[in-house]
Amino acid sequence: MKILVVAERKDNELRRVTLELAAKAGTLGETSVVEVTGLDRYSALPAVSALAAKAKSDAPDLILTGATLNGRDLGARLAARLGRAYAADCTGLASDGGALVVERPMYAGKIRAKLRVALPAVLSIRPGAFPLPANATPPTVTALPADTSAEKLAFTSFAPTPSSGKRVSLAEARVVVSGGRGLKGPENWHLVEQLADALGGAVGASRAVTDAGWRPNEEQVGQTGKTVTPDLYVALGISGAIQHLAGMTSSKVIVAVNKDPDADIFKIADYGVVGDVFEFVPAFTEAVKKAKASS
Ligand SMILES: Cc1cc2nc3c(=O)[nH]c(=O)nc-3n(C[C@H](O)[C@H](O)[C@H](O)COP(=O)(O)OP(=O)(O)OC[C@H]3O[C@@H](n4cnc5c(N)ncnc54)[C@H](O)[C@@H]3O)c2cc1C
Repeated sequence: MKILVVAERKDNELRRVTLELAAKAGTLGETSVVEVTGLDRYSALPAVSALAAKAKSDAPDLILTGATLNGRDLGARLAARLGRAYAADCTGLASDGGALVVERPMYAGKIRAKLRVALPAVLSIRPGAFPLPANATPPTVTALPADTSAEKLAFTSFAPTPSSGKRVSLAEARVVVSGGRGLKGPENWHLVEQLADALGGAVGASRAVTDAGWRPNEEQVGQTGKTVTPDLYVALGISGAIQHLAGMTSSKVIVAVNKDPDADIFKIADYGVVGDVFEFVPAFTEAVKKAKASS
C-alpha cells in the first residue's frame, strides 16, 4: 500500500501526531511524508490544491492527516476534491486482506464503529491513537509548495491567538488533568495545575468551568471542546456528562475523583476515588512528587 502522510508543525517542530502517523504508516506500506510550505499560516485552498495535484501524480492508496483542527479541515476538503472515501477522527487502522478497516467514535463517543473503507481513501487520525515507538526515527519530510494561485476565494484569516499556557498542548499531551465544577472556583485551580505539573501533563476543564469563565475556552474537553487521547486522564470533580465523555473516553487510563459514589464518571473510570478533591489532590500531588524524586 502506498501511503502519503501530511505533516504538521507547531512552533517549527513536527507535531507529535505527524510522528505517530509516519510510524504507523511505516508498518502498513510504503510511506512518504509531505509538508505544505510557503504559507504564513494554514490556508485551506492553497494547501488542498497542492496536495490534490500531488495525490494525482503519486496516486497514494491512502492519505493520512492528523485529526487536528487544520488536519480535519484539510482531510475532508482533500477527499472531496479527489472524490475519495473519507473517515474522520479515526482511532484505529488496520489492513484486512485488500481492505482497510478503521475504528472511529460515533454519536458523541457513545459507540466505537469499525468501518471498511474503500481505497483510495483519506483519513484523519486522532492524536495519540497510535503509540510512538521509543526508537522511532523522525520521518523525512518533503516540502510541497502551496498552490498560492488557488487563494482566490474571499477568505479573511485572523492571526491565531497564542495559547496562554506554558504546558504541553492539551490535544497532544500524554497526561491530562482536568477540573470540573467540583473545584468550586478559579481560586482553587492551583490544585489542578500542581497535579498536572507533578505528572508532566496538560490542564483541561469541563464546560461548566469554561462557561463560568473560571478557565479559558481552549482548555475545554468534550463534544464542543477538545478531544484528547492521553495515556492518563485524571478527572477532578467532574460528573461525567456524556458531552464531557465525548472528548476523553479514548484515553488509555482514566482516573476519577468525585465525592459522589454514583457519579457517572465512575462508569468509565479505570480507577475511581470517592472523596473530596480538596483532601485528596494535595496529598496525591505530594505522593507523585515523592515517587518521582525517589525514582
Ligand atoms: C450541546 C452541549 C454541549 C456540551 N459540550 C460539553 C463539552 O464539550 N465538555 C463538557 O465538559 N461539557 C459539555 N457540556 C455540558 C455538560 O452537559 C455538563 O453540564 C458539564 O460537563 C458538567 O461539568 P462538571 O462535571 O464540571 O459539573 P457538574 O455536572 O456540576 O459536576 C460537578 C461534580 O463535582 C463533584 N464534586 C463537587 N464537589 C466535590 C468535591 N469537593 N470533591 C470531589 N467532587 C466534588 C460533584 O459530585 C459532581 O459530580 C455540553 C452540554 C451541551 C448541552
